[in-house]
Amino acid sequence: MQYKSYKLTPVCLECGDRIKYGRSDKKFCSSTCRNKFYYMHFSRSQRFRRKVMSVLSKNYQILETYLLAGVDSVELVEAVNLGFVPSTVTSHQRIRGKDECCCFDIKYIMTETRISSLTKIQFVSLNLRSKTLKPSDDEQ
Ligand SMILES: [Zn+2]
Repeated sequence: MQYKSYKLTPVCLECGDRIKYGRSDKKFCSSTCRNKFYYMHFSRSQRFRRKVMSVLSKNYQILETYLLAGVDSVELVEAVNLGFVPSTVTSHQRIRGKDECCCFDIKYIMTETRISSLTKIQFVSLNLRSKTLKPSDDEQ
Protein backbone atom coordinates (compact mmCIF):
# COMPACT_ATOMS: atom_id res chain seq x y z
CA MET A 1 0.00 0.00 0.00
CA GLN A 2 1.31 3.41 -0.91
CA TYR A 3 0.64 6.65 0.87
CA LYS A 4 0.65 9.97 -0.81
CA SER A 5 3.10 12.30 0.82
CA TYR A 6 1.21 15.34 1.96
CA LYS A 7 3.03 18.56 2.42
CA LEU A 8 1.33 20.45 5.22
CA THR A 9 0.23 23.85 4.03
CA PRO A 10 0.00 26.39 6.83
CA VAL A 11 -3.24 28.30 7.23
CA CYS A 12 -3.71 31.93 8.23
CA LEU A 13 -4.57 32.28 11.93
CA GLU A 14 -6.97 35.10 11.11
CA CYS A 15 -8.89 34.14 7.98
CA GLY A 16 -8.08 30.44 7.68
CA ASP A 17 -6.90 30.72 4.08
CA ARG A 18 -3.92 28.67 3.00
CA ILE A 19 -0.63 30.52 3.11
CA LYS A 20 0.68 29.95 -0.36
CA TYR A 21 4.07 31.61 -0.16
CA GLY A 22 6.72 32.64 2.35
CA ARG A 23 8.41 30.79 5.18
CA SER A 24 6.82 27.57 6.36
CA ASP A 25 6.34 28.99 9.87
CA LYS A 26 4.41 31.99 8.59
CA LYS A 27 1.22 32.52 10.60
CA PHE A 28 -0.70 35.00 8.50
CA CYS A 29 -1.48 35.35 4.81
CA SER A 30 -1.06 39.14 4.87
CA SER A 31 -0.12 42.05 7.08
CA THR A 32 -3.80 43.00 7.15
CA CYS A 33 -4.67 39.62 8.71
CA ARG A 34 -1.75 39.86 11.16
CA ASN A 35 -2.82 43.33 12.29
CA LYS A 36 -6.46 42.28 12.58
CA PHE A 37 -5.46 39.23 14.66
CA TYR A 38 -3.35 41.22 17.10
CA TYR A 39 -6.00 43.92 17.30
CA MET A 40 -8.69 41.37 18.19
CA HIS A 41 -6.63 39.19 20.53
CA PHE A 42 -4.71 41.73 22.54
CA SER A 43 -6.00 44.48 24.78
CA ARG A 44 -5.26 48.11 24.03
CA SER A 45 -2.62 48.13 26.76
CA GLN A 46 -0.95 44.97 25.44
CA ARG A 47 -0.89 46.43 21.94
CA PHE A 48 0.60 49.66 23.26
CA ARG A 49 3.33 47.78 25.16
CA ARG A 50 4.04 45.63 22.15
CA LYS A 51 4.43 48.70 19.97
CA VAL A 52 6.70 50.47 22.48
CA MET A 53 8.84 47.33 22.92
CA SER A 54 9.17 47.05 19.17
CA VAL A 55 10.35 50.69 18.91
CA LEU A 56 12.77 50.25 21.83
CA SER A 57 14.12 47.09 20.32
CA LYS A 58 14.79 48.84 17.00
CA ASN A 59 16.36 51.84 18.79
CA TYR A 60 18.58 49.49 20.79
CA GLN A 61 19.68 47.66 17.66
CA ILE A 62 20.67 50.96 16.00
CA LEU A 63 22.52 52.32 19.05
CA GLU A 64 24.31 49.02 19.62
CA THR A 65 25.46 48.97 16.00
CA TYR A 66 27.08 52.38 16.54
CA LEU A 67 28.71 51.20 19.76
CA LEU A 68 30.08 48.06 18.15
CA ALA A 69 31.53 50.21 15.36
CA GLY A 70 33.24 52.39 17.97
CA VAL A 71 31.04 55.39 17.17
CA ASP A 72 29.98 57.45 20.21
CA SER A 73 28.50 60.47 18.46
CA VAL A 74 26.19 60.65 15.46
CA GLU A 75 23.89 63.09 13.66
CA LEU A 76 20.34 62.52 14.91
CA VAL A 77 19.00 62.62 11.35
CA GLU A 78 21.29 59.74 10.40
CA ALA A 79 19.92 57.56 13.19
CA VAL A 80 16.34 58.59 12.39
CA ASN A 81 16.88 57.57 8.77
CA LEU A 82 17.78 54.10 10.06
CA GLY A 83 14.51 53.96 12.01
CA PHE A 84 15.58 55.44 15.36
CA VAL A 85 12.67 57.05 17.24
CA PRO A 86 14.12 59.80 19.52
CA SER A 87 10.98 60.17 21.65
CA THR A 88 11.04 56.55 22.86
CA VAL A 89 13.46 55.92 25.72
CA THR A 90 13.60 53.73 28.80
CA SER A 91 14.72 56.63 30.99
CA HIS A 92 15.44 60.33 30.71
CA GLN A 93 17.14 62.80 33.03
CA ARG A 94 17.96 66.45 32.58
CA ILE A 95 21.49 66.83 33.91
CA ARG A 96 23.31 70.19 33.81
CA GLY A 97 21.11 71.34 30.93
CA LYS A 98 21.64 68.15 28.93
CA ASP A 99 19.12 65.46 28.08
CA GLU A 100 20.59 62.16 29.18
CA CYS A 101 18.59 59.24 27.81
CA CYS A 102 18.80 55.50 28.13
CA CYS A 103 17.67 52.64 25.95
CA PHE A 104 18.02 49.82 28.45
CA ASP A 105 21.77 49.69 29.20
CA ILE A 106 22.84 52.15 26.52
CA LYS A 107 23.18 55.74 27.73
CA TYR A 108 23.47 58.82 25.50
CA ILE A 109 23.11 62.56 25.44
CA MET A 110 20.51 63.78 22.95
CA THR A 111 20.23 67.24 21.48
CA GLU A 112 17.97 68.41 18.66
CA THR A 113 20.64 67.44 16.14
CA ARG A 114 22.96 64.86 17.74
CA ILE A 115 23.25 61.73 19.76
CA SER A 116 26.51 61.81 21.68
CA SER A 117 28.41 60.24 24.59
CA LEU A 118 27.04 56.86 23.56
CA THR A 119 28.08 54.31 26.15
CA LYS A 120 26.99 51.07 27.75
CA ILE A 121 26.26 51.32 31.44
CA GLN A 122 26.92 48.75 34.10
CA PHE A 123 23.87 47.99 36.19
CA VAL A 124 24.30 48.46 39.89
CA SER A 125 22.12 46.19 41.90
CA LEU A 126 20.00 48.21 44.32
CA ASN A 127 18.91 46.52 47.47
CA LEU A 128 16.01 48.84 48.19
CA ARG A 129 14.31 46.49 50.62
CA SER A 130 17.14 46.34 53.12
CA LYS A 131 17.67 50.09 52.72
CA THR A 132 14.05 50.70 53.65
CA LEU A 133 14.16 48.33 56.57
CA LYS A 134 17.54 49.38 57.94
CA PRO A 135 18.38 52.96 57.01
CA SER A 136 22.01 53.71 57.58
CA ASP A 137 23.04 56.49 59.93
CA ASP A 138 23.98 58.95 57.20
CA GLU A 139 20.50 58.73 55.66
CA GLN A 140 18.68 59.79 58.81
ZN1 LIG B 1 -5.48 35.71 6.28
